[in-house]
Amino acid sequence: MKKKIIIAIDGYSSCGKSTMAKDLAREIGYIYVDTGAMYRSVTLYALQHDLFRPDGTIREDELKAQMPQIHISFKLNSETGRPDTYLNDKNVEKDIRTMEVSSHVSPIAALPFVRQALVAQQQAMGQEKGIVMDGRDIGTAVFPHAELKIFVTADPQIRAQRRYDELKAKGMEADFDAILKNVQERDYIDTHRETAPLRQADDAIVLDNSHMTIPEQKAWLLQQYEAKV
Ligand code: C5P
Repeated sequence: MKKKIIIAIDGYSSCGKSTMAKDLAREIGYIYVDTGAMYRSVTLYALQHDLFRPDGTIREDELKAQMPQIHISFKLNSETGRPDTYLNDKNVEKDIRTMEVSSHVSPIAALPFVRQALVAQQQAMGQEKGIVMDGRDIGTAVFPHAELKIFVTADPQIRAQRRYDELKAKGMEADFDAILKNVQERDYIDTHRETAPLRQADDAIVLDNSHMTIPEQKAWLLQQYEAKV
């Protein structure tokens, strides 16, 4: 039997990390965890509970006090074969992908108490190994000893176009310029925050997928996994 490992996939916004990660997990029978969905869920909660001031700043003390009431879980959707995100037992898979959430998530993810709470949950999920986790700090902070670390990057214009196509395909509103601006803003905040900023782990393998198709990325990732196990 192959040994079970932890696979950490980090990188910039809208790089197609989650598509790669989900496909790999399904193929090799691993658990898949989308940590971005967890930060998005906290953001959705904050928006729903009026925890953003009109000027966009966060009511941090109130959010901190309410953190124990924010329960995030994943359940397999039998139709898509992929996990859906639940916030306090409500399926929020679609609600967390809106532009409103995308444009509020990075400041929420920069709060140390939010990261502390979510990282603890992520580490608990990986205790048994056999997990593919994607995010920004998986190989650097959540699982610094992960056996396989991938760092994904792609041209911002290409990433914005992919995000645009994805939203359109789901029948959601999409404005290319707004998406590009959001991708660039999130890159900036994610790489410049004080707690666990997005950066490539020293032992990560870099993948620039600007000019790769999804099947090509999938095959590449499977090769990296096979090489490790
Ligand atoms: O991966 P996704 O784009 O859905 O993540 C949304 C946001 O959540 C990111 O822009 C980043 O601010 C935050 N995030 C994070 N750490 C992670 C995963 C996501 O800070 N591990």
